[in-house]
Amino acid sequence: MSYYPSCDTLAVPAEYSADKCGIFGKNSDRDVMEAQPLIYFPPQDFQAGDQLQCTYISIEQVSHTYGFIGSKPWWMWGLEMGVNECGVSIGNEAEWSNIPVNDEDALLGMDLVRLGLERAATAREALQVITQLLEKYGQGGACKYGSPRLDSSYHNTFVLADPEEFLLLETVGKHWAYRKLKDVQGISNVYSIEDDYDGTSKDIAAFAESRGLHHPGEIFHFSKSFLLMNYHFLGGFSRSQWSTRMLKEARGRLTMEGVLGILRGHYEKDTVESRWSPVSGCIPCVCMHGSEPTRTQSAATMIVAYHKSSQKELMFTCWGSMCPPCCSLIVPFYNTGYIPERLGSGADFYEDSSFWWRVNRMVSDIESNYERYHGWLEEVRSGIEEEFQKKDKEMRGLAEKLFEEKRHKEACLLLNEFTESCLDIVEKTVAELTERIEIDMKNVPGQIYRQGYLSAYWKKAGLAGSMTERESK
Ligand SMILES: [Zn+2]
Repeated sequence: MSYYPSCDTLAVPAEYSADKCGIFGKNSDRDVMEAQPLIYFPPQDFQAGDQLQCTYISIEQVSHTYGFIGSKPWWMWGLEMGVNECGVSIGNEAEWSNIPVNDEDALLGMDLVRLGLERAATAREALQVITQLLEKYGQGGACKYGSPRLDSSYHNTFVLADPEEFLLLETVGKHWAYRKLKDVQGISNVYSIEDDYDGTSKDIAAFAESRGLHHPGEIFHFSKSFLLMNYHFLGGFSRSQWSTRMLKEARGRLTMEGVLGILRGHYEKDTVESRWSPVSGCIPCVCMHGSEPTRTQSAATMIVAYHKSSQKELMFTCWGSMCPPCCSLIVPFYNTGYIPERLGSGADFYEDSSFWWRVNRMVSDIESNYERYHGWLEEVRSGIEEEFQKKDKEMRGLAEKLFEEKRHKEACLLLNEFTESCLDIVEKTVAELTERIEIDMKNVPGQIYRQGYLSAYWKKAGLAGSMTERESK
């Protein structure tokens, strides 16, 4: 069993956000070679008896699935995170436990994320959907492309959110416990439900007892029973503690921008020196960058900022970015059943046609000399993102009026065109910055501590051009 530091999820229940509407945020951390397209999946109807093929197993289909926006590792059926047309947001976290992972293919945690989005109209319903499927089919299977099953399998924690409530669901095998979140919380690769759960699977205490992990007669404590006590756990612990503290310091004033700032964080002005550095390459941060031996990076970021609106289409703005968020730019999406197709491609090798890979190329260029090139990014990014946020409010106001006038199509078109125009600006910025950095890289040596890792990475990803240019210096 290998350990991959992966993913951070931030939960801001309605009462703690500045506008009292709630914010869900997640960094999906995945293998550095794995593209994660963003896709819209429309609602669908099925016939009785239909089967559904998930990543490894097939299960019974339901009569209707909801439409949703999903951030999807290119090769799997499941999702890292998403938000559906009813406003249910779900993201998962990998967990390692003293209970061994299943040695048979079953549902991946990512499959359960998608099943929750397809089948649930509220966070409560998602809790039911996921726990019932978990008890019936179990969880298991390789979570990394091309990896042996037991080498990249894990248990899962889920954050299930809607505008009304945020739920934390932690699982081990077919067992689970959940807790309604009554405060802000950062969640990472470490169990955090103790004896404060609001519900558990049947006989969970007896299960723990049978494994010598619980004393009969004592109050059952989820984390104490199932936490894997080894040094890996420290990474998840420090990330979740840090993000929770950051959220608490801004409790009541939290905005999408504040949540994004934490997801872009590397313990700034805290545990290690400000900004991503060689040290934070060794200590996995909330914003994660690939390094040896931990070939994990933030592959995508999603922030669902809920709004008060009588219109379903305006119930949230889903902000998304690809690759480590400190080096990327955000784009807004709406509940209009639309994600630009150009965000939907990419696999495990560089392609010019893939937006994810073009961003990743720029990010790896920035990483070659972070102090120098991140400054170049910041010079342009802050103005662009401020404008996006300002216009997001304006566009929602205009759309609200159009909806009131029953001009539904025009309202959706306005929002979708705004998404397209933001994406155009981001694509142009990525192209210009990549070009500017790659010209500079020919003359200015990169940081020596990144050279070995990046040269090997560029070669493997098919970006040998950059590498040859760098090394010809
Ligand atoms: Zn970063």
